[in-house]
Amino acid sequence: MTVELLSVGTELLLGNIVNTNAAYLAERCASLGLSCYHQSVVGDNEKRLEEAVRLALSRADIVILSGGLGPTKDDLTKEVTAKVFGKELREDAHTKERIEQYFRQMKSGKITENNWKQALVPEGAAVVDNHNGTAPGLIIEEGEKTAVLLPGPPNELKPMFEESVAPYLNSRQPEGIYSRMVKLCGIGESKAETMISDLMEKQTNPTIAPYAKTGEVHLRLTAKAGDEAEAEHLMGPVLEELYKRFGKFIYTENENVTLEDAVVDLLKKKGYTVTTAESCTGGRLAARIMNVPGASNVYNEGYITYSNDAKRKLLGVKKETLEEFGAVSRQTAQEMAEGAADAAGADAALSVTGLAGPDGGTKEKPVGLVYVGCFVNGHTRTEEFRFTGNRDKNRDYAVVRALTLLREELLCL
Ligand code: ATP
Ligand code: MG
Repeated sequence: MTVELLSVGTELLLGNIVNTNAAYLAERCASLGLSCYHQSVVGDNEKRLEEAVRLALSRADIVILSGGLGPTKDDLTKEVTAKVFGKELREDAHTKERIEQYFRQMKSGKITENNWKQALVPEGAAVVDNHNGTAPGLIIEEGEKTAVLLPGPPNELKPMFEESVAPYLNSRQPEGIYSRMVKLCGIGESKAETMISDLMEKQTNPTIAPYAKTGEVHLRLTAKAGDEAEAEHLMGPVLEELYKRFGKFIYTENENVTLEDAVVDLLKKKGYTVTTAESCTGGRLAARIMNVPGASNVYNEGYITYSNDAKRKLLGVKKETLEEFGAVSRQTAQEMAEGAADAAGADAALSVTGLAGPDGGTKEKPVGLVYVGCFVNGHTRTEEFRFTGNRDKNRDYAVVRALTLLREELLCL
């Protein structure tokens, strides 16, 4: 089954907002096993929107439109799509009731006349409730063709897609689509891809598709199958092969588990606490660990030591070390980790010191040079990295490498 994405909004055409909805929908449709050959953007213009809807419907089974479902005059998506399908708009009592309820809950005062525009529904369309806003989603089916209309704000579109649209799309497929996300850390994307290029080429069911995330590689396995058991049967040998090739680089095969989840889980299993001493990452590493519900079982306190003075005062990094090797050095990273573990009374400690950029680089110590220290069980390992991103990316990479290092050390115990 083919799907086409049509993003509506002049803001998108002007580059005022980034089309993250299209990226999200494209990835989700691919994981549902739908073929997407075209995606396009059109402004809030009735004539051009109509042309775009007609064109998309002429070549795809399902067109997913996003944006332009709001209450204002420039929101035209529903009106135009209904026209293309030859459907009248009718007031939907259920949606009207939900809009009233939404305004009562938000206590956002009077409902303006144009809000009722959102209760108008093309005849015969299925309404998809919006739990985070007033514009409902809509599914219009006519003969072989379907249009799915979703509100533009990502915090409305995504939950609606996950809750209602994905199951709907799945139900339209002759076979169910089952997928697993195998997540790897500590290995580069090109290396990972090379190691499975033969598998990627010859696999048809399941298919394997790699996604590069900052410092991680995710492999999505997608199987078409009659039921979960058949999907397991198809994916089992491929998963086994992936474990054979990547072994400990794999930290989960669960879509919802993050690297920090996996690390906190390992710490809990060992009964260890951890602390962090951060310079260039400015607390991001600690924040990642605290993303995990229940992190308080393994984390009590941490340190942001940006200046040399702070590194000395809070972590006991030696003056001579800073003078001889500099703040961005293996030696400083080591003393930071050891000093943090000592100060916090933690079993493990991660330290990060580096040059995130854009300024401050030298020939010997260029921007992107980062040292990570990991203290566990009386032993400290330090690693040097040379990242090539911007300030923001370099800091994110450093955080992922630190978590990866701790994970590796914990697995070795
Ligand atoms: P509203 O009821 O808020 O008007 P809408 O369904 O009419 O919602 P738009 O008016 O097209 O949607 O967009 C509303 C906001 O949603 C935009 O200002 C933007 O912040 C976000 N948005 C819209 N389309 C996209 C997109 N393709 N990618 C990311 N964000 C988007
Ligand atoms: Mg709008």
